[in-house]
Amino acid sequence: MRYKILLIEQDGSSLRVLKRVIGKANLDVVVATSLTEAKIIFDQSTPESFLCAVVDYYLPDAEHGEAIDFAISSFVPVIVITSQTDQDVRERILSKAVVDYIPKSNAQIFDYLSRLLTRLDKNKNVGVLVVGGNTKNRNEISTLLGRHNFLTYQANSTENALSTLQKHAHIKLMICDQNIPASTGVDLVAQVRRRYDKEQLSIIGASDKNEAALLASFIKSGANDYLRKPYCHEEFFCRVLQNVEYVEQIELIKKTANMDYLTGIGNRRHFFAQVGDIMGRKPDSMSLALIDLDHFKSINDTYGHDFGDLVLKETAKLMKKHFQSACISRFGGEEFCVFMHGVSQQDAFQKLDDFRQAVSERTFKRKSQRVQCTLSVGLAHTSNAKLETLLGQADELLYQAKANGRNQVVT
Ligand code: GH3
Ligand code: MG
Ligand code: MG
Repeated sequence: MRYKILLIEQDGSSLRVLKRVIGKANLDVVVATSLTEAKIIFDQSTPESFLCAVVDYYLPDAEHGEAIDFAISSFVPVIVITSQTDQDVRERILSKAVVDYIPKSNAQIFDYLSRLLTRLDKNKNVGVLVVGGNTKNRNEISTLLGRHNFLTYQANSTENALSTLQKHAHIKLMICDQNIPASTGVDLVAQVRRRYDKEQLSIIGASDKNEAALLASFIKSGANDYLRKPYCHEEFFCRVLQNVEYVEQIELIKKTANMDYLTGIGNRRHFFAQVGDIMGRKPDSMSLALIDLDHFKSINDTYGHDFGDLVLKETAKLMKKHFQSACISRFGGEEFCVFMHGVSQQDAFQKLDDFRQAVSERTFKRKSQRVQCTLSVGLAHTSNAKLETLLGQADELLYQAKANGRNQVVT
């Protein structure tokens, strides 16, 4: 679902910039130039269709932030923008239940808004675990996180924290108070780090003690960051965002490093890591198939490289469909690999032959162009060989399949 942003702003030049920024975040904009207009728009739509409202503090018919109160009372998260740099106004804004406030001081700040909007959308799938002995503290933090659309969880003990983390793989951040019954935050951090590394789960330690030693203990035990209470909301959100983004960026780097850029399936590196893990567990039987498209060069030569790319992508898609519980990979060029374990040689052969047949019956289409493509497969089966041996055998069998006339599985 594509969300809308309600932009309540009267100033023409700000409107132009804000519309562009919101568009950049891939969201639709609905504009109201006054509180009155905003009320009419709300009457005609459901609050859930808005990801949030971006509201100017000052409007001709709402000079003192009344539009902010209106949007909050309509259950829409509010980001306030303002050209007033007055400390008083800032405090008045932050005392309301707003997501954030952004002074219109420089162009950089609009990048921050764009990042914030993207986050509000993404946060709906990001879990944050709040751990501590004080219920009121935990609730306060959860309320703040809820304003940014995070999925929040709470734990009041080490055991609860560990079991909650185990249950919810989408938890990317743990905020951990030093005060935990029968333990300490620092101890919990050390325990959690034995199971989850910094790249999987960010941890922010929190305490009301103004002690450099405690901060150092948190960091040395494995926390990514530290928050001293009482903190201002802006600092809180800046640290939360930074630490969640850290985990997400590592995830993205890992994904990119393991994925074939053209077809989106795993690459050779990923295949070796994944299959190496499985073989380490000594499965009963293993099948490895090398798949090579037939006369692929002539498809490129006749229809162009782009069409060749399309055939590779469609073939990979078919592969995903046919081998849902196997490890599949693009090995390079027009060559793919499939690894299965716990499957008999006969069943492995049948699966590969079904796939071969499906591809041979497929017509690849682009505009008015139509092309058929076949593939050859070498399938090796073993109960105890090494991966290198299996690969060597599959390669030999693939060579035979090509020599025997292609479009076949040889095992
Ligand atoms: P055979 O049946 O013996 O396998 O013949 P073939 O033409 O498929 O084999 P050959 O090794 O001669 O050619 C493979 C071709 O695959 C050549 C290369 O340009 C093409 N190719 C490799 N990677 C890509 C790619 O990413 N995209 C496209 N479009 N073509 C690719
Ligand atoms: Mg080849
Ligand atoms: Mg080929």
